[in-house]
Parts: sequence; C-alpha cells; structure tokens
Amino acid sequence: MHRYDLIACHDCGVLHKRRPVRPRQKARCVRCRSVLYRGIYSDASRMAAIVLAAVFTFLIAQFFPIVELEVGGYSTSATLLGAIRVLWTEGMQAVAAVVFVFTILLPAVELASLLYVTLSLRQGRRPPGFDHLLRAVGAARRWGMTEVLMIGILITIVKMTSLAQVMVQPGVFAFGALTLMLAIVVSFDPQILWNIGEHLPGPRRTAKKTFHYAALAKGVPLVACHSCGLVESLQKTVRHQYCARCGARLHRRHPDSVGRTWAFLLAAAILYIPANLLPVMYTHSLFGKEDDTIISGVVYFWHSGSAGLAAIIFIASIVVPVLKLAALALLAYTAQRRSRWRPMQRTLLYRIVEFVGRWSMLDIFVITLTVALVRFQSLAVITAGPGAMAFCAVVVLTMIASMQFDPRLIWDPIDTHGEKHV
Ligand SMILES: [Zn+2]
Ligand SMILES: [Zn+2]
Repeated sequence: MHRYDLIACHDCGVLHKRRPVRPRQKARCVRCRSVLYRGIYSDASRMAAIVLAAVFTFLIAQFFPIVELEVGGYSTSATLLGAIRVLWTEGMQAVAAVVFVFTILLPAVELASLLYVTLSLRQGRRPPGFDHLLRAVGAARRWGMTEVLMIGILITIVKMTSLAQVMVQPGVFAFGALTLMLAIVVSFDPQILWNIGEHLPGPRRTAKKTFHYAALAKGVPLVACHSCGLVESLQKTVRHQYCARCGARLHRRHPDSVGRTWAFLLAAAILYIPANLLPVMYTHSLFGKEDDTIISGVVYFWHSGSAGLAAIIFIASIVVPVLKLAALALLAYTAQRRSRWRPMQRTLLYRIVEFVGRWSMLDIFVITLTVALVRFQSLAVITAGPGAMAFCAVVVLTMIASMQFDPRLIWDPIDTHGEKHV
C-alpha cells in the first residue's frame, strides 16, 4: 500500500483507499457523501490542449472591448481593464483592486500555472516548481470569479438597453467561451495532477517513501495535507510539521477555527449595515444628481419591467449575504457546543455556503462596468459610492469566514471507535 492511495474526506475526515473511477464518475465519502474526487481523462496532451485554448480565449476577453454604448452621437466602450482603471482613478482603489484580483489576476495565475504543468506532464516529466504551482492553482481557483463576471456583463447589457443603444463587442463572446472552458478546466484537480506527477522523473522535495500502513493499526494519529491531500502520520515531537510533498503547513484541524470564523463573521455583519444604507452609485445627469443604494437598484429594475433581473440582484446581493451570515453563525455555534445535531445536513449547509459565496460579488461587477460605460460628459456620468466598498468587504470577509471554518469539527463529536479519521 502506497500513501498516495489514501485520501481523507475534506468535509468530515474519514480515510478512504483511492480506487480508479471512470471519467465523469465521482467517488463519494462513505460517511458524509461529499465528493472525494472525480474521474477525469488523465491524458496530459488533452488537458494541455484545453488549457492552451482557454489561455488564448482569456487574452481575447481581456483586450477586446465588451460593450459599446451610443447615445445622441456620443459613444463609449469598455474593456474589463479599462473599467477597473476608471474605478481606480475615481478614488475607489479598494474596489478596483478586488475586482482586478478576482477577475484578471487569479484566473491568469490558474491558467498559466496549469499550462506550464500540463505541458511538462505531457512530455513525461515533473517540471521544477511543480508543487508550488499546483498549490497556486488550488488557491487561485477558490477566489476566481469568471462565471460571476459573465452574468454581471449580461445584467449590465440589459440595464444599459433602457439608457442607450447597446452594441455587443467581441469581448462578451470571449468571456462566454472562457466561462465554458473554465468549467472543464476546473475538473483538472491539482490532487489528480499531483498523483500523475508522482510517478514521473523530475525534481522532488523528498525521496519517495512507502507509507507505513502499520501506522494505521497502531493508532498513530494521521493528518491530511490541506492543499495536496497527502496523508501522513502526525509527529508529536515536532512543533510545526510541513507536508513532505508540497511543503504546506500541516494541521489536524484548522487552528482556532471557530474563534476565527466568529471574528470574520462579526466584521462582515457590522459592515453589512453601511453596505445597504450607503449609496453604491451616484448618477450626475442633466436632470440632476441621484443616489442609488443596492435596494433602490432592485426597485428600479422591478419598476422598469425587468422583474427577473430585480429578483437575481435581490437574491445575490441581499438574501444570499444574510443567509450566509446566519448559516455560518449556526455552524460555528453548533461546532463550539460540540453538537451532535444533524451532521449530514450541517455538512451540506457548509458546502452550499462555500459554493454560493462568490455570487454576492455580482452587483460589484455590474457597478464596475456601468461606471466605466456611462461617461457622456454633457449628458450623464455615473460614479461609484462608498456603499460599494463596504459591500465588497462584506463579501470578502464572509468568504474568509467560511474558509476558516473546519467542517470536520461537525463530525468530531460523533466519531465512533475503531474508525480512522484524520
Ligand atoms: Zn466525508
Ligand atoms: Zn501537501
């Protein structure tokens, strides 16, 4: 038995023996039913080809304009980078930086690292920096928001049709194609690439060691690496233990998980108030000055006949953040009390919170594009307001809060004797 054959469930910690699954099939945890890994076509040439296509699409999406607006002989157009620059020059540097990191920098890091790794795997070798790049892929993927941006672009287009003549530009199609390609690229799981790389020649951090399966029987505590999934025996004598494969710090559970979750949760809850009360946009036009909060934007869509859009923004910007704060508070509270109440449902709740977290950025993306597009000097100019900054902070803080929460704490009070959990 090799240690690469072991896999610990991310959500509840039960240890499993890895078995091959066919493409499009999923291996699920025996206890909490979360997906352990998916079967993929582990053909590096195929992966490299798809990643290369995604890189080209990404470049087209970044450098071509997304939409062009025309009103009374004036016209403006915006690329994503141009929109971010407008926010930056208007004093919204924090929002501009967040949008840049989530929609340009992190997808670029993910694609560039994956391209380098898959091209090398295709040639049958482990490239230098293999471990660090795969760790970067995992981290970038948690925060990348291309699909949210895509929906934001579509909402902006619909919103603008009531103001001006909208001409869709190549950037929109490139973003659409990129969203679809990233949906495939997401299945190139770093943990699977790690296991493919294990069997290839090339520089590695440590010599290949055979895992002492006897450790399982003796009851030596095991720990699973949070970034590469490698299972190792926990050494009590070492103060800080690092993963032998990827070098990440090893913890049996996230350190001070519940305390940190509460801290970020509280900060997010406090900022939720200014996020909803302060204006997110100012409109200066011939007819005067107008302030828009998130809720007034929803009301505007509702009255202008786009009930569907009003519903999407209402759910993404108002309902989802409140439900997320409530759900995380429930998870942190029950973990703190070591509750044995409905662990299955609580794990599911945690997974939903992790999944929907990014979608609350939707309104921020709509604001970014709107601000860049509506600059008809004599007719109307839209600028972002302080509410946008508070709202951005709420989304980021809740995402950090949910990342600090360790779902294995849900299962710890229920652990039965004789089973192995890490
Ligand atoms: Zn599980
Ligand atoms: Zn590791």
